[in-house]
Amino acid sequence: MPVNARRALREVMAERRNRVVNCQVSLVGTEVLSAGYMRLTVTGDGLRAYTDPRPGDAFKIYLPSRPGRPVPAPSYDEQGHLQWPDDLDGGRPLVRCFTVRSSDAESSNLTFDVLLHEEGATAQWLAEAAVGDRIGFTGMRTEFVDTAEAQTHLLIGDRSALPAIAAIAESLPDTKRTVVIALGTEADAAALGLPDSAEITFVDDAVGLVSTVSGFAKTDARTQVWIGAEAAVVKEIRRDVLGRGPLSRDAMHASAYWKAGLNWEQTFEESMDRFLAAAKAGSDVGDPGVLQSLAFD
Ligand SMILES: Cc1cc2nc3c(=O)[nH]c(=O)nc-3n(C[C@H](O)[C@H](O)[C@H](O)COP(=O)(O)OP(=O)(O)OC[C@H]3O[C@@H](n4cnc5c(N)ncnc54)[C@H](O)[C@@H]3O)c2cc1C
Repeated sequence: MPVNARRALREVMAERRNRVVNCQVSLVGTEVLSAGYMRLTVTGDGLRAYTDPRPGDAFKIYLPSRPGRPVPAPSYDEQGHLQWPDDLDGGRPLVRCFTVRSSDAESSNLTFDVLLHEEGATAQWLAEAAVGDRIGFTGMRTEFVDTAEAQTHLLIGDRSALPAIAAIAESLPDTKRTVVIALGTEADAAALGLPDSAEITFVDDAVGLVSTVSGFAKTDARTQVWIGAEAAVVKEIRRDVLGRGPLSRDAMHASAYWKAGLNWEQTFEESMDRFLAAAKAGSDVGDPGVLQSLAFD
C-alpha cells in the first residue's frame, strides 16, 4: 500500500478538533543550547488538557510586549484576524508558533527550542524574559503522523524546522529508515538531540537544500516526506519532489515555517485570508492536502 500521510493527518486532526488547549502558562526557565538555539520551558495547569502529545505538534504562543506584562486572551473577528483589547498597556503581544520539543505530563512542563536569528523579535524577548513571566498559549497544530506503510521517512528543513525534525526523528522506530536533509551543522544536531540513527546531510543554505533534495533519488512509494522551511523554499522543494515521482502528493506534508520579509503575525494574517476565501468558496479546509495546495500551488 502506498503511503497516505494526508489521510492519516486528516484523521488525527479531526479527532483533535475539540481538544484545543487555550490557557496561560508561565516561563519556568530558558537554557542556551548553542549559539543558534535557546530552549524555553513553560508550565501551567491548563496544559493538563494536552493529553495526546505527538511529535511535531506546534502551538501558537502570545508573548507579552514587555517582559512581565500580562497577556490577555485575543479574540478573532469574522475574517479570522486576531483582535486584542484597545487599552493594552505596553502594546500588543507578539504572536509566534513553535514546536513542542518535549512534554512531561506529571509536571505539565513543555519545552520549545527556538532559533535565534538576527531579526527575530522572539530572540529579543527571550533576552529579557524572566522566570514566572506569563505567556498566552493556544493549539495544537498537528504536523506529523507516522503511517504504517512508510518504510523511509525523508525529513527536510531549514534551521527553524530542526527542532521539529529532532522531535519527529526521535519518535520513529528503528525499523524505519530516517533520512534528514537540513540546513545546519553537526553542532546543531548535538544541541537539539537528533538521534544517531538518523542519516543526516547538512547543507549551508537554501540553494544547497534544494539541490541536495533534488539529488536524493531514493523516494519511492514507501517513502513519507516531511518539509518545514521558508515558504518559497518549501514550494520549490515540493514541486521538485512531486515532479520526479513516483511519490504521490498524499505521501508528503509540507509547511511554510516562515516567510521572507514577514514576521509571524503577518504570515499568519496572509494565510488566514487565503484560508477563509477557500472556506467561503466551499473547499474542504479540514483536509491537509487542500491546505497545502492553498499554500503552495
Ligand atoms: C508549525 C510551525 C512550527 C514552528 N516551530 C518552530 C520551532 O520549534 N522553533 C523555531 O525556531 N521556529 C519554529 N517555527 C518558525 C517560527 O515560527 C518563525 O520562524 C517565526 O517567524 C519566528 O519568530 P521570530 O520572532 O524569531 O521572527 P519574526 O519576528 O517573526 O520575524 C522577523 C523577521 O525575520 C524573518 N524570519 C523569521 N523566521 C526566520 C528564520 N527562521 N530565519 C531567518 N529569518 C527569519 C522574518 O521573515 C522577518 O523578516 C515554526 C513555524 C511553524 C509554522
